[in-house]
Amino acid sequence: MSGTWLIGACWFYCGRSTLVMEIGSVTTGLPVRHAPLYACGDCLDVLERSVEDYARAVACLPVDEDGMEVPLYVAPEAGRPERLRYRADGGCRRPRTGLGRQWWPLITGVAPESPSPGAGS
Ligand SMILES: [Zn+2]
Repeated sequence: MSGTWLIGACWFYCGRSTLVMEIGSVTTGLPVRHAPLYACGDCLDVLERSVEDYARAVACLPVDEDGMEVPLYVAPEAGRPERLRYRADGGCRRPRTGLGRQWWPLITGVAPESPSPGAGS
C-alpha cells in the first residue's frame, strides 16, 4: 500500500467515488492487463475484517474421514467430502463479514445466522 489517500473510484464493495488508497494490483489473462486496486476506508475495513474471518475459518477447518483438514476452497472436480467431522469444542468464532458468513457453514456444518441490521457486508 502506498498509504496516500487520493480521490477516485473505489474498486470494491461500495461503488462510490471518494477518498481511496492504492492497496495492490491485479493482473488478468490474455491479453495481459495490469491495474492498480483502490479501496476506500469503508471497504478497507470490510476487507480487513474479511481477512480476520478467513484466519478464524482456516483455524477451524473440519476434517475428512482420514483426519485431513478440508480447505475452504476445493477444485470443482474434487468436491467436498460427504462425511466431515467438525470441531466439537464449538471454538469457531462467529463471522463478521459476508465472506465469513459464506465460510461459516463450511467450517461448522450449520447455516449462518442472519446478519444483524447495520452489520455491514
Ligand atoms: Zn469502497
